[in-house]
Amino acid sequence: MRVLAFDIGGTAVKIGIINEKGEILESGEMPTFSNEGGEALMQRILKTIGEYKNIDRVGISSAGQVDSEEGKIIFASENLPGWTGMEIKKRIEEAYSIPAVVENDVNAAAIGEAYYGAAADEKSFLCLAYGTGIGGAIIEQGKIYRGAFGSAGEFGHIITHVGGKDCSCGGKGCYETYAATSALIRNVKEELGIEEVDGREIFKLLEEGNEKVEKILQTWIFEIMMGLVNFVHIFNPSLIVLGGGIMVQPYIINHIRENLPRYLMPNYKDVKIVRAKLGNNAGILGAAHMVMEA
Ligand SMILES: [Zn+2]
Repeated sequence: MRVLAFDIGGTAVKIGIINEKGEILESGEMPTFSNEGGEALMQRILKTIGEYKNIDRVGISSAGQVDSEEGKIIFASENLPGWTGMEIKKRIEEAYSIPAVVENDVNAAAIGEAYYGAAADEKSFLCLAYGTGIGGAIIEQGKIYRGAFGSAGEFGHIITHVGGKDCSCGGKGCYETYAATSALIRNVKEELGIEEVDGREIFKLLEEGNEKVEKILQTWIFEIMMGLVNFVHIFNPSLIVLGGGIMVQPYIINHIRENLPRYLMPNYKDVKIVRAKLGNNAGILGAAHMVMEA
């Protein structure tokens, strides 16, 4: 079987041809051109499908909240204007008469890790992605736990600081306003009085022995851990997969592995903390797996 998979983000769309063993036979990328709107993006995806020969199915991983039963976008932020309401599955099946599956990008990445990556031997685990916000997925026996209305796993919006900082969701004190990569960057900019900095530069400053940066990093990792303490006590997982570009820094995971157990009750301490393994291929691999199973 040959699956054509797309992973749609605000700036780029990753594309891959994947077989039933989870091997990526071809891959590429195209700009999202999100400023052109949702319909233009849908047209480009349909056109791309038409350019590939011998495709059996199409798997789509997309940013935003997804109704995976209907294969449509329930809500997409301003990163993908005009994407809200897009009936992706219907449009693909109408145009090409081949089965399609649409899934939220964090869920798709978690399924990718479950079958081909960091969680390949585990079927019940949590997957968290740290970036501008914090996304999460709950995998129970190899399947996504969706909750009653399809939106379970918004780990970024549990409240870790009562009455704390304003969050993009309208709430106050949400986990992601303290523990997302954007929070680390904001804190470093404020404390050091600099205009621009990225994750790589922050770790360079740490290596150079910058004590202010070390302190900010440790506070930020503590914020990450306090969320994990909540999740571990709720789900009692054997494994937590941490993803997002910043997690390539071993300092973070090493620090969490060393310190997390002291905040956990005895029956929870054996939880393994690992880094996501598939990088930015996780979404296409997960979406491909889901449409092969469908
Ligand atoms: Zn929030």
